[in-house]
Amino acid sequence: MNDSVIPIVPIEVPGALEGDGSGCHSGKHTMLAAAKQAGKSETLAKYAQDYPKGPHDQPQSMCPAFGALRVGLRMRRTATILSGSACCVYGLTFTSHFYGARRSVGYVPFNSESLVTGKLFEDIREAVYKQADPALYDAVVIINLCVPTASGVPLQILPKEINGVRIIGIDVPGFGVPTHAEAKDVLAGAMLKYARMEAETGPVQAPRAGRSEKPTVALIGEMFPADPMVIGMMLEPMGLAVGPAVPTREWRELYAALDCSVAAAIHPFYTASIREFDAAGRNVVGSAPVGYDGSEAWLQAIGDAVNVGQEKIDAAKNRFLPTIRGALAKTPIKGRITLSGYEGSELLVGRLLVESGADLRYVGTACPATVWSEADRTWLEARGVHVQYRASLEQDLAAMHEFRPDLAIGTTPVVQAAKQASTPALYFTNLISARPLMGPAGAGSLAQVVNAAIGNKGRFDAMKSFFGGTGEGHASGVWETTPKDRPEFKADTRRQIEKQKKKRKAEEMGS
Ligand code: SF4
Repeated sequence: MNDSVIPIVPIEVPGALEGDGSGCHSGKHTMLAAAKQAGKSETLAKYAQDYPKGPHDQPQSMCPAFGALRVGLRMRRTATILSGSACCVYGLTFTSHFYGARRSVGYVPFNSESLVTGKLFEDIREAVYKQADPALYDAVVIINLCVPTASGVPLQILPKEINGVRIIGIDVPGFGVPTHAEAKDVLAGAMLKYARMEAETGPVQAPRAGRSEKPTVALIGEMFPADPMVIGMMLEPMGLAVGPAVPTREWRELYAALDCSVAAAIHPFYTASIREFDAAGRNVVGSAPVGYDGSEAWLQAIGDAVNVGQEKIDAAKNRFLPTIRGALAKTPIKGRITLSGYEGSELLVGRLLVESGADLRYVGTACPATVWSEADRTWLEARGVHVQYRASLEQDLAAMHEFRPDLAIGTTPVVQAAKQASTPALYFTNLISARPLMGPAGAGSLAQVVNAAIGNKGRFDAMKSFFGGTGEGHASGVWETTPKDRPEFKADTRRQIEKQKKKRKAEEMGS
């Protein structure tokens, strides 16, 4: 280990958090109060401003930290280390590999003692020094999960760089960052800020393929791999080229992204990243080239932002808009749909569905309202679609019950509820997000999967009538006599568990 002297600040650990057992279940208020008491007020205030809460302020999806972890794991020459409770790290590691991380997830474990004495911070520092090998890495990312954040583990006093390897420490607690989508922005924003500072103080590495000769449009948001290429084709008649997509896949791409002429906030929730583009003096354009109207407005906005002249903007429109219209007309979608998700691209998908002819009634997104999706919201609402930002699961389900769609597109619990009601359903993340959405490639790309799903209604009815007699809830399964529900037994067991919990707590306090 390099023994450069780093001041070790003794951490006063709030009593409530002495141990590895706190987490989502400890209660948001306890965790928030503890984090503030432990010196994280500034970080939390920034998150509260960047990611305003809505009707649901607790994650109803996966642990938010997954977003930041995934961004780190997808970058070349980047090591990502978690600092958090073992159960959280287990879940996050499992999910990363489920989604094909093909990379190790680093972990600095802790226990009550190392948390209370401040030894955890020393262990983190040691791990960071061990990992910071410039032959292997450009950056080491260390992510504080809920308990270390609430305990004030001061990642901000880690060295900013070790042997030329950048050290990026971020707090991503579930009680401060509402969704995993926004957690992607926490890391992407921190990296852009670092890269911007580097670019401001001297020359930086050029992109792998050299600096573009044309003015570029940086893209903000993770998208289907073909989408940036399609956008590149659409920009070509305006004399523009597509720049890197943020979150980037490599450190040097951060400089190229900041070097753009204009940044396109394709996903509208990247508040911290957009702040960095702003600070670098770049214009930011919202919405995206989806469908006919969306592509028309987006090409105009980008052309205006870079000042290419109306003639070139019209050339781009004339080349692509008729193809988009043709593709949409050739692959119509027929049926009533409700749509919800937590990726941040829900409004864009909604626009495409409407232009394909679908009777879309509801779009729910777990992400907050920002100016970058304002044009999409007004477009959808003008066509009678209810748009719900920071949508809760309850709102998504209520929309499904209210509108009785032919197809519900949504998150896992929405899809599950729809299928239970014999309504065809598609999982947004795996089946809709994993398709091209932009320009001519996006027009018509949803029709096949959506129409096939709507066509499955008969199969759901057949299944329902086949399995219908197997019961529901306490009577699920095949029985000789239908089991009798005994709510009093359940209440009794619940009471006993509560009693045991209280007893354990009293013993802990007394010990
Ligand atoms: S890190 Fe994630 S899983 Fe762990 S307590 Fe926080 S929100 Fe829950």
